[in-house]
Amino acid sequence: MTETLTVGVLGTGIMGAAMARNLLKAGHTVRVWNRSADKAAPLAGDGAVVAPSAAEAVRDADVVLTMLYDGDAVREVMREAFPAVKPGALWVQSTTVSLEDVDRLAADAAEHGLAFYDAPVLGTRQPAEAGQLTVLAAGPAERQDDLTPVFDAVGSRTVWLDQPGAATRLKLVANSWVLALTHAGAETLSLAEALGVDPDKFLELIQGGPLDNAYLRTKVGLVRGDQLSPASFAVTTAEKDARLIAEAGRRHGVRLDLAEAGAERFRRAAEQGHGDKDMAASYYASFDK
Ligand code: NAP
Repeated sequence: MTETLTVGVLGTGIMGAAMARNLLKAGHTVRVWNRSADKAAPLAGDGAVVAPSAAEAVRDADVVLTMLYDGDAVREVMREAFPAVKPGALWVQSTTVSLEDVDRLAADAAEHGLAFYDAPVLGTRQPAEAGQLTVLAAGPAERQDDLTPVFDAVGSRTVWLDQPGAATRLKLVANSWVLALTHAGAETLSLAEALGVDPDKFLELIQGGPLDNAYLRTKVGLVRGDQLSPASFAVTTAEKDARLIAEAGRRHGVRLDLAEAGAERFRRAAEQGHGDKDMAASYYASFDK
């Protein structure tokens, strides 16, 4: 395979659009499709071919990249795309999905002659825009080198794991930590305010010590600065991930109370009208309205 590839990107939301732009910057031919056409259209200005359907986006593609909301969306979109994919193409599946979804999608890929790579990413809007994601990847060893130009374009680090499913396992573990930190910061901020404690006093207290945390400072800063839109990682997407994590725990015999409670916080925040805001809006779930 040549270094310059044709990549069909399905899903140009927060992450997919940024990844498509970095593939273009790296010199690849990029064909994009999004369910809501208005989110794909601006990519024409970056040099992408904006396709009218998922099938058109993947036609002639060496690599198909899916970056959609969840496993159901991936299955639905790929059902339409499969007949147009060229035999032997590589499928990079970066949507965060359940472990059961990975198995189903890998089976679908095998049925349609695609080489399937379970390839979720760590990092949010800003690292995605900067091409600094960490790609967790697992799939057939003999074609891994062919994906180096794709992963190098979207990320600064690729962590290869042994088989499909292993990458999503690690992704769910990492997100369990990220979501717990998000809620811990949101609750700590709301408690400080309710008790009349200046949040800066708390931040000064932990500064530079083992309890300090850059992520906590970023997320608390977004809430205090009223900078929750546009989201880096939306509340509704975070709720989906929290439920995937809780379900993975249940299926594997561990009880994840924080993940369950966190999913409920995201649900309440969305119900209050904060679903499209950054997940730091978990803060609002501390209040009745
Ligand atoms: P997003 O901006 O909401 O994008 C979601 C995309 O999925 C949109 O293109 C949306 O299309 C599409 N979609 C949803 N349901 C669909 C359906 N039934 N059929 C076709 N298309 C559908 O979300 P995102 O933040 O980019 O996240 C995308 C994936 O990456 C998620 O699995 C998320 O968990 C994961 N992720 C996100 C981050 C982050 O920080 N944002 C980081 C790592 C991984 P419309 O535009 O038509 O709604």
